[in-house]
Amino acid sequence: MGYIDLHLHTTASDGVMTPSEIVRYAKAKGLQAIAITDHDTIEGLEEGLSEGKRIDFEVIPGIEISAEHSPGSMHLLGFFINTHHPLLNERLGYLQRARAERNPKMVEKLNRLGINVTYEEVLKASGGGQVGRPHFAEVLVEKGYARSFQEAFDRFLKKGAPAYEEKFRFTAKESIHFINEAKGVAVLAHPNTLNMKGYSELENLILHLAKEGLKGIEVYYPEHSAVEVAQYKTLAERYGLLVTGGTDYHGIEKNGLDIGIGRGEMKLPYSIVESLKAARS
Ligand code: AMP
Ligand code: FE
Ligand code: FE
Ligand code: ZN
Repeated sequence: MGYIDLHLHTTASDGVMTPSEIVRYAKAKGLQAIAITDHDTIEGLEEGLSEGKRIDFEVIPGIEISAEHSPGSMHLLGFFINTHHPLLNERLGYLQRARAERNPKMVEKLNRLGINVTYEEVLKASGGGQVGRPHFAEVLVEKGYARSFQEAFDRFLKKGAPAYEEKFRFTAKESIHFINEAKGVAVLAHPNTLNMKGYSELENLILHLAKEGLKGIEVYYPEHSAVEVAQYKTLAERYGLLVTGGTDYHGIEKNGLDIGIGRGEMKLPYSIVESLKAARS
């Protein structure tokens, strides 16, 4: 049995490969299954699923929702979602409109800082997919306002930075609800970005999310330390949650992480997919 990757981004959000390309790449790399999990959008799924059928490769329809949380960020993965579900589509439409309102405000903020960036340039960087801060970062680097993608975030785009603009998010409860309604399996992505103060605070949050319908935790993730992996695994076992994992691949040129393996340390068994299938509501 091969291995899997359950956290991937395509050009439908801020990844570098189109859905078809990522499916062909995963197969060529010897993976057995992948989930496409773009930020707040299902626009890449139809293409990814049909390419999977064409080349006989298993593609799981997924999504990654940014939910309301502070001080860190909370992302919720939804696996096996029914992309035609009306509530899911209504909620995602709302998020798209919120982004469409936010992006021009970030352009304005940059312009007020004396930075000559147009919305057209950012749109172009997005390649026709959903527009997000990573595309702003690309333009800022291209035009010489930042030396690197990370510097663009640190100086202008990260939460609290001068060009940052808040974006509407659903609560975790709302997000888990619409994932479940669309017959998806809701999983807490990379818990280390939650920035919880300590283990017991994290435990309380996970317990709360489990009561709202959370089904799993993304335990295996390139940015998790060995200690974190052990902690998240213990919490998953304690609360009867599934264990998943993925690389959060956006394109190897972006951060050096490759599909399926991350920096070389990941190799997740197909049994994870089988547990997810068993958990489908
Ligand atoms: P957006 O959805 O437009 O708010 O953009 C979120 C995306 O920006 C995330 O998925 C990351 O890829 C990237 N991102 C967010 N915060 C940072 C940061 N501090 N440094 C680098 N990239 C970031
Ligand atoms: Fe991203
Ligand atoms: Fe994420
Ligand atoms: Zn992601």
